[in-house]
Amino acid sequence: MTPLLYPLPTRRSRILGGVLGLAVGDALGVPVEFSDREVLKDNPVTGMRGWGVYNQPPGTWSDDTSMALCVLESILEKGWDIQDQGERFVRWLFHGHLTAHGSVFDFGGTTKDALMKIRFGAAAGDAGKTDEASNGNGSLMRILPASVYLSSRSDGELAEALSQASAVTHGHPRSRLACVIHGLVSAELLAEKDPADAVAGAARRLEALRSSRGLAPDLEEEIPAFARALSPDLAELPEGEIQSSGYVLHTLEASLWCLLTSNDYSSCVLKAVNLGRDTDTTGTVAGGLAGLHWGEEAIPREWLEELAREGMIRRMAEGLAEMTENPKKEEIMNEIPRSPFGEPDEVPEERSSV
Ligand SMILES: [Mg+2]
Repeated sequence: MTPLLYPLPTRRSRILGGVLGLAVGDALGVPVEFSDREVLKDNPVTGMRGWGVYNQPPGTWSDDTSMALCVLESILEKGWDIQDQGERFVRWLFHGHLTAHGSVFDFGGTTKDALMKIRFGAAAGDAGKTDEASNGNGSLMRILPASVYLSSRSDGELAEALSQASAVTHGHPRSRLACVIHGLVSAELLAEKDPADAVAGAARRLEALRSSRGLAPDLEEEIPAFARALSPDLAELPEGEIQSSGYVLHTLEASLWCLLTSNDYSSCVLKAVNLGRDTDTTGTVAGGLAGLHWGEEAIPREWLEELAREGMIRRMAEGLAEMTENPKKEEIMNEIPRSPFGEPDEVPEERSSV
């Protein structure tokens, strides 16, 4: 019997799905962050829960989405400008810019250190620590809008730009290469590839960059660390082999594994969250990639209805879709007014603990 064929999601649906999908994944994970996998096996997340670890209402997203929205807002207003991205992160951490409810309740140490430097005048381009221990998932979790924006550029330009974008907070080449690989996988998904083909395509494009000497030498040295993430066998690994800590490599592997082993957006993002530990960030990265593949229509309506500031996130995602659909995107970018999103930021409190 011939299987029913459904139309593939449009590019616009994929971009909305990516941005809304990452925020939904974050919000699903927030209440159970740090939970052990075994605890979640007994009481799995099946929808928007709320309260929990940070005592936040259902639909509340965290630093992952705030920082991704800072990148997205910067792209809409400035095009590609990592100094501007860094300054928006400072506004987020110290002034609650682009938060779910006006205050910051979650941030990473490596990110905070870098943003302190930028706050006191450092150039964003080299603010992020470069030591091997500073390879948390703080740059990977926010990179999706940049991956989408750069998806039509050459792979060399994409790699250079995403590497620089990571280094604003996470300058070690492992974190930077993770962001480059996210960009290549995203470009493949936006080109309507299935997950397995998208990961294989990203691996091929990375090989082509290497053979054309288009990859920086310090990134080149990190290639072996990503062998498992880019292997065609990743999907065959049992769940017990997949780790879900805050280490950037764990987050990338876990997110790709969830994407490769799921049949729809919901099961992918719930699988990611229920891996435990860094639930919000695994949910963010898996949810973003799943949205790029299955499109906005695949995200359950009841989850979107509970998502904090869903209208603002949707308008920003629509701006990104319009910008990247138009070949004269730089001209379009300049036509976007400075406050295109309608909804003013709530007045935040300065955090005394930061
Ligand atoms: Mg978070």
